Amino acid sequence: MKQAISTEQIHHPYQAPAGWGAVPTGVFKASTVLFKTCADMRNRETHEQGYSYGLHGTPTSFTLMARLASLEGGKQCLLAPSGLGGITTINMGLLRPGDEVLIPDNVYGQNRVFSQGLMREFGITHRVYDPLDATALEAMIQSQTKLVWVEAAGSITMEFPDLLGLVRVCRAKGVRVALDNTWGSGLAFKPFDLGDGLAVDVSMNAVTKYPSGGADLLMGAIVTVDEKVHRAIEHAHRQLGIGVGMNDVEMVLRGLPSIELRYHAQDRTTRALARWMATRPEVVQVLHPALEDSPGHAYWARTCTAAGCLFSVIFKDSYSQAQIDAFVEGLQLFGLGFSWAGPMSLAVPYDLTHSRNLALPYKSGRLVRFAIGLEAEADLRGDIEQSLKLLAT
Ligand SMILES: *Cc1c(COP(=O)(O)O)cnc(C)c1O
Repeated sequence: MKQAISTEQIHHPYQAPAGWGAVPTGVFKASTVLFKTCADMRNRETHEQGYSYGLHGTPTSFTLMARLASLEGGKQCLLAPSGLGGITTINMGLLRPGDEVLIPDNVYGQNRVFSQGLMREFGITHRVYDPLDATALEAMIQSQTKLVWVEAAGSITMEFPDLLGLVRVCRAKGVRVALDNTWGSGLAFKPFDLGDGLAVDVSMNAVTKYPSGGADLLMGAIVTVDEKVHRAIEHAHRQLGIGVGMNDVEMVLRGLPSIELRYHAQDRTTRALARWMATRPEVVQVLHPALEDSPGHAYWARTCTAAGCLFSVIFKDSYSQAQIDAFVEGLQLFGLGFSWAGPMSLAVPYDLTHSRNLALPYKSGRLVRFAIGLEAEADLRGDIEQSLKLLAT
């Protein structure tokens, strides 16, 4: 019997041939995943790499998970709808009421907000440690300390932590280590092979930044090497209903082939501009871990083979916030907005006096964080030069 158009369109006999080849991965979208038999459906958790329901992934997202795990030198990967979603899922997977989490003073701001907010309401406490002092961290670890977050380099002030020292202390005390690896993104250092046989337990990468590279989507990756740690986080990931859309996954798969080229190109431009800014009379200090006088430079040199696209500039105290704001607004090629590692350079003014617990390890003053995009160095330098003239007025 001839089928109606709607039925025919849904159950059409033409199927794409197996073995068809192209450079990009196919984009498989699904809520429903079809099973061949009722037994397959009942045994879905062990069936065909675990495809069971669209929320838990399709061949497109499984491809991205495998590539992101390789990028970081890990084995398993889970995807979250943002970097922040990756951070919160790790905490929900690894912490229980009565536990304590330790975070570095320069931790990504929303990680701190989560510790101060929902985590506390769920009976999980936190304290803040100095990322440059592994001995102080060791003294802080107590029986209820179950997780230590590390971030390299730290947000906004760019201190590179004593990563080996911090991880060694956690290993000796039997406490798990979660790394916010958005800055390194698998390219500056290998989180699961830090040297001296040391590794973190889980690495969170805000895919929003380098893996995407487009300033056009939000995603987070949770990478592990140990099946037990992976399972503990997956336990929370599944129950919280966390998933990602395949259009976004496709975009990240498109960004990954150029991530290494982009990372090193942005690193080159960033270092050149950071070194030039350090010579300017308006500037007290430039914070970039590859600069010799930046906090944690020796730790960076020991662990890293590259650096990211960020640096911060502390301006002389004699400039008012209004003057600094005029400088930022006077930039023509730098957007005023959050996030980074996209094509467009960005600049954001910060006042950290209310968002840090510990004494700041640099000369105080007003700070602007630059995120360098893919524009030419000479054009960016010329733009900063013309806007610095506004400081003199
Ligand atoms: C941007 C960022 C995040 C969060 O990523 P979103 O996708 O914006 O939620 C986490 N950590 C660091 C260091 C970041 O820069």
